[in-house]
Amino acid sequence: MSVFSHPEYDAHEEVAFRYDRASGLKAIIAVHNTRLGDALGGCRMWPYASDADALTDVLRLSRGMTYKAALAGLPQGGGKSVIIGDPRHDKTPALIQAMGRFVDSLGGRYIVAEDSGTNVEDMRLMAGQTRHVGGLADEKSLAAGRSGDPSPATAMGVFIGIKAAVHAVFGRDDLKGLRVAIQGVGNVGGRLAGHLAAAGAELWVTDLHQPAVERCVREFGAHAVPMEQVHALDVDVFAPCAMGAVLNDKTIPQLKARIVAGAANNQLARPKHDYALLERNILYAPDYVINAGGIIDIFYEGPAYDEATVQQHLLRIGDTLGRIFEHSARENRPTGEIADRMAEAVFRS
Ligand code: NAD
Repeated sequence: MSVFSHPEYDAHEEVAFRYDRASGLKAIIAVHNTRLGDALGGCRMWPYASDADALTDVLRLSRGMTYKAALAGLPQGGGKSVIIGDPRHDKTPALIQAMGRFVDSLGGRYIVAEDSGTNVEDMRLMAGQTRHVGGLADEKSLAAGRSGDPSPATAMGVFIGIKAAVHAVFGRDDLKGLRVAIQGVGNVGGRLAGHLAAAGAELWVTDLHQPAVERCVREFGAHAVPMEQVHALDVDVFAPCAMGAVLNDKTIPQLKARIVAGAANNQLARPKHDYALLERNILYAPDYVINAGGIIDIFYEGPAYDEATVQQHLLRIGDTLGRIFEHSARENRPTGEIADRMAEAVFRS
């Protein structure tokens, strides 16, 4: 399998493959860039159809982490790992421990964290094999009621980002009466709904999981809407907080919101959709900038965790977005492209 000539290869510093015969582990770790610090990124376990698909994913995701960390103002690089297998059927303690030893073999250049298919329990198992595990709550954090789940910080970061976008588009700093449609009210979207409702916004919500919708209706006075309509509602802000590729050829022409700002990763189906949003005069908060609260939280996790420090850092998400919006307006170029150039200036300087 070629790596250096792979279409997703982007000067990655290190790509390591591991097969562990005893546990059956097949995994890849990609370290994209460590110019700013050791590479932090989640470990995804997924039943990839082929080794090639797993390589494509890990190359793409690790690169994204470099950009995310750079614009989050963290002294960290970008990396990611993938385990080839179905987390529901193939995951065993021995396999996860073997993954921990694989992480350890990189000597700290890669710091592992949770991602789809892995959880806090897996991170604890890996921590028995390596100290290079991020986002694990220690005894003090657990006693304070924090589990190491980054979702609350992600939701707060998205809330701060929405305020920055509202300031840029409507020139106002309060959210009273702002109309927001949220697609997906799970760990992040549900908490975001709470912050928005507390700030006086009016909410429209949808989710595959009906109880999550009902909770928002009950607790925040939200309006429940069908899944296929949420992106096309006549609202001020559309907040995608479920899955990726939601901004595409079909949905963009149907958007009525002036702002798209939400937690979901990889919201643009293709890079060209960044331009499509600009042409429609819709302000898009680049996903990896607005949803960086999670890695900011993971960075501070540990015995010295201090909520006020984390909150101060989360506020910087709003400042960064403000700068991106200004550049975008001045140069009439899409926000995603501006964000990428700004990130590159940070990690290539
Ligand atoms: P989650 O699984 O807790 O919530 C997602 C919700 O979306 C679920 O309730 C699910 O039922 C719903 N959903 C799925 N498909 C849907 C659809 N087609 N229409 C409507 N609802 C649908 O996940 P989460 O942790 O809240 O993360 C949400 C998004 O934010 C994901 O894209 C994730 O990658 C991204 N993200 C999360 C974090 C974090 O800290 N949790 C950090 C950065 C980015």
